[in-house]
Amino acid sequence: MLYVDLHNHTKFSYDGSNTPEEIIENAIRNSIDVIGITDHQFTIGDNLPLYFEYIQHCKIKYKDKIKVLCGLEIGTRPTPPESLPLATQQFDYVLFECLDDPRAADLYEILEWRRLFKCKVGLAHTDIFKLGEMYNLDMIKIMREYNIFWELNTSGNYPYYYDFLTNDKKRKIIQYSGIPVSVGSDTHYIGEYRKKQIRRANELLNKMGIPLP
Ligand SMILES: [Zn+2]
Repeated sequence: MLYVDLHNHTKFSYDGSNTPEEIIENAIRNSIDVIGITDHQFTIGDNLPLYFEYIQHCKIKYKDKIKVLCGLEIGTRPTPPESLPLATQQFDYVLFECLDDPRAADLYEILEWRRLFKCKVGLAHTDIFKLGEMYNLDMIKIMREYNIFWELNTSGNYPYYYDFLTNDKKRKIIQYSGIPVSVGSDTHYIGEYRKKQIRRANELLNKMGIPLP
């Protein structure tokens, strides 16, 4: 099985303390097979092409040791700039964050956006069960229809992660939904890397036959 960690911040984010290389080398030390860099779009700003090139360079540099993916975390408070779908065409994926936050952009607006993105799209640290209740919608159906994957965020900052570990009913709903699920450590500093949690989440998804994005 593969161990993936598709949510990591570097110095390209205002809150990341490490370089992309440090994040990647830490992942190699922790036996991760696929590492995704997902800095915040609102702090990268005009440096987006530079960021993309930088991560491409890392992909090549580490290609014999680990698979590196170039992602982007898109803030939804407020709505991101309209140039993003085109600017991220060649990215491996983007993550929309915190859609269950009352201050987040409207879900319907995000779904309209989703149509414009050519790369894979996921929801980062969003409790889709709560989101479904907020909008009175079947989020499973929507995510299948719009081809959106879900992230299990192991940082410990989002209660839905613990909920998923302990709630059989919710786990089964995801298991039978066919929705791909990624695992993200949401690392901002490698000194706090939660290896045990990353491994456990990956193993759980693998055991349940839940596909990766
Ligand atoms: Zn993040």
